[in-house]
This record gives sequence, structure tokens and C-alpha cells, in this order.
Amino acid sequence: MQFISTRGGTLGAYSDVLLEGLAPNGGLAVPELLPQFTNDDLERWRPLDYAGLATEVLALFATDIPRDDLEQLTAHAYGGGRFASEDVVPLQKLDAQLTLVGLSEGPTLAFKDMAMQYLGQTLDYVLAKRDRVLNVLGATSGDTGSAAEHALRGRERVSVFMLSPQGRMSAFQRAQMYSLQDENVHNIAVKGVFDDCQNLVKRLAEDIDFKRGNNIGAVNSINFGRISAQIAYYVWAWLRATDELSADARDGFEVSFAVPSGNFGNILSGLYAKLMGLPVRKLVLAVNENNVLDEFFRTGFYRPRNAENTLATSSPSMDVSRASNLERFVFELLGRDGGRTAAAWSELAETGEIDLSVAQHTFEPLFGIVSGTSTHADRLATIRGVHDASGVTIDPHTADGVKVAREHLEDGVPMLVLETAKPQKFADTISEALGSPVDVDAETQALLDAPQRVVELDDDEQLLRDFIAERVLR
Ligand SMILES: *Cc1c(COP(=O)(O)O)cnc(C)c1O
Repeated sequence: MQFISTRGGTLGAYSDVLLEGLAPNGGLAVPELLPQFTNDDLERWRPLDYAGLATEVLALFATDIPRDDLEQLTAHAYGGGRFASEDVVPLQKLDAQLTLVGLSEGPTLAFKDMAMQYLGQTLDYVLAKRDRVLNVLGATSGDTGSAAEHALRGRERVSVFMLSPQGRMSAFQRAQMYSLQDENVHNIAVKGVFDDCQNLVKRLAEDIDFKRGNNIGAVNSINFGRISAQIAYYVWAWLRATDELSADARDGFEVSFAVPSGNFGNILSGLYAKLMGLPVRKLVLAVNENNVLDEFFRTGFYRPRNAENTLATSSPSMDVSRASNLERFVFELLGRDGGRTAAAWSELAETGEIDLSVAQHTFEPLFGIVSGTSTHADRLATIRGVHDASGVTIDPHTADGVKVAREHLEDGVPMLVLETAKPQKFADTISEALGSPVDVDAETQALLDAPQRVVELDDDEQLLRDFIAERVLR
């Protein structure tokens, strides 16, 4: 299978796009054709465990990785006790219509582990084949950095340089990252806010000579390896939600998914699953007060905001006002026409917005996507309501998903809400919602007490360059 850029031109095979960020023309990597599966395929996959199913789904894209090797990669990513649940992705009913899809059983208790654990394995594999090394440079406000570090720790051909804003993350998030003692993990606490970290990364990434000379790369949310791995759990959730139905009733049985969203990576994988043949009725996009995407799906106007106009909310991993993966949706919307997609992004650069209002009426019928916004008050009320009714404590991001999911329920259509993090990660908001402090379990306490390994740096590009250049793998 070949990959192309959303702005036109061919890019190479799966392994090639795994190692690259943006295409040279600024576009994102997408498969030349979306592979398709049928009801017979789904029934053939039904008995498989999670790793087995992931192999089937990923094999549709990773045609340049031999099947046996792919099996090994998914077995390592999703086996060996890395995920707390034996199912890897357990489903849990909340009430007659709502079911939680547990994507947060991995080492950092958030859904990013689902893709990162696989990407960590696969990067090492591809790099070994090419006798190359990669130094991953990134900035994090919490979840992405820890998921990347836990997936890449101890690997031979990859090292990680992760910038985080000093004193701005929760104690839990700090502990999760800084307690890693692996030689190939470099935690850098920058005296500044998240945007300062991101600007430093951007400036270094734009310096082609520095990047090439130091084998610098990224594993951010536009990485197609991550997007492809996430498709597997939509298929898994559909299979588990239909296990109890008769063979006839299963065929084409539609479910809806609600997805707490930021960079549009998670829900994009759901859209691909639907376009590839999974019987999905609605994809419910839930955002927080940073509701650029809700505005887009309601009006067809995409108006990203800058950092100053992005609010710090109590579902912080969704504080995104420029959703990098949206370009892949627009590419599908515009008939997979690279020229038209490039024109839309030129329009954005010139005017600050993209006007797709003439096509807005097709968003739901063609793609199933509907949307809604959840606020701090909604989040608290939802955490409390779910806790009182079912005894289950959900995290603030998942609460945004549940709140918006309820606005889009239909009779006879199960609503599967993706649980994107565990509540322990956001103890302050949970205790605000439930009116009592959250119990700290022994495991969490041990993590909080563990020695930490982090270097503090001023917000200074030259200092960072020197720090990295002295420590990169070559
Ligand atoms: C990253 C993240 C999101 C947003 O996912 P996107 O793929 O960026 O849309 C939602 N919730 C949590 C907990 C996250 O870590």
C-alpha cells in the first residue's frame, strides 16, 4: 500500500510514513485507498484476542511489514501484562444505553498508551531494519509525553527528549514522567508555560540541518502509525458490543461512539473504521470550552484560535484550538483531492479561517459526525451523576464524552463512550465533583514518592540545542 499527502504527491510505504512527520508540502500522510472489510471479515476476527485483532487491522495498512513480524509487534505491545485488564480494552455498561470502552488500562492510565505502545515497538523494528536511530523531540502538557516515554523507555534505537512546563503539571503527571530512570529518557522542565516548550520544539524542528545532523523526529498525534493502531479498538468495541446478538442480527448492526476530542486523532480513527466498513451510526465529537471543532461541525467554518485564546480547563488534554488531524477529514470531504485540500489550507493561512459551510449538510449523512460542547459545570455534574447512578468514577475527559453522548442518543442504538483517562490522573477535579478527597491507592502513593530524574532549563534555544546535541543517539 502506498501513502500520499493530503496536499498531493506520493510519500512511500507504511514504514516510511511512520518515521516522517509532515509531508514536504506540509500535508499529512494518508493511504492512497482506504482498505475495506466486510461482515465476513468481522466474524472471522470475532474470536481473536486484542493483539490478534490489532494484527488483522494493521496488516491492511502495513503491507511492507511481514505478517509474522507484525504479529510479534502487536503481541509485545498488547501482551505481557502491560495493560491492567486481560481484555486490554474492557467494556463496562453504565446504563441501558451507555457503555464505557476502557482505553486507559495501559501504563500511563490514558488512551494514548493504546497507540504509543505499538508505535514504540514498531519504531524500534523499522529503525533496526534500516540501521538507523531516532531521537524523539516533543513538548507535553501531560498525557502525550508520559505515554511516549513509557513506550520508548529502554529501547535501543530511540531516545526521547521531552519538554514540559516547570511546575504546571499535576503531581501525578510529573511523577509518571520524571520517575523514569532510563538512560534514553531525558525529561527537561522548562521555566515557562506549555506554549514556550512547544515554541522551542518548533524552532529546532524547523532547523533542517540540526534535525538531520542529530536524527531528530517526532511521535505526535499526526503520526499515521498512531492513527492506524487506534482503528483496532473501534473494531474491538463493535465486536464486544455485538457478541450477544444472533449472527443475523449482528450483520450491519449499528452502534454510535462518543469521543472526547482535542487534536481530532482519536475520532479520526473512528471515522476511518466507519469508512472501511464498520457499522457505525454516529461519531459524537465532544469538546470542552475550547470548542473550535464543535463550531466547525455545526457551521462548516473552521476558525482555529491562538494560544492566548485557548483556555486552561479541567479537561486539560483537550485544550486544543488547532486540531492538526482535521486536515485528514477535510481531505475525505473534498473527495480526496490534494489540490483542493492545499487550497483550503492556503485560505486558512491568508484569512485565518476555512469556509466549508456549503458542505456542512453532508457531515452527518456521509460521515456520521455530530458534535457538542461540555463545560466545567457539565463535567462536575456528569462525574457526580454517573457516580451516584452506577458507582463508577469517570475522569473529566470521559465526562465530557458522556455529557455530549447523552445529547445524541437514539432508540435501539448502543452508545459507546471512549474512556480516555482514569480518574486518578485528575484527582483535584474528581474531589471537586464528588465533594470528598480521592483515595490514593498504594501504587499511586509509591509512584508519587519515587525519586525523580529531570533537568531544569531556562527558556533558551541555545541551551536546549547544546543539551540535546551532547546526548543524542548517533
Ligand atoms: C489526548 C487526549 C484526548 C484528545 O484526543 P485527540 O486524539 O487529541 O482528539 C482526550 N482525552 C485525553 C485524556 C487525552 O489524553
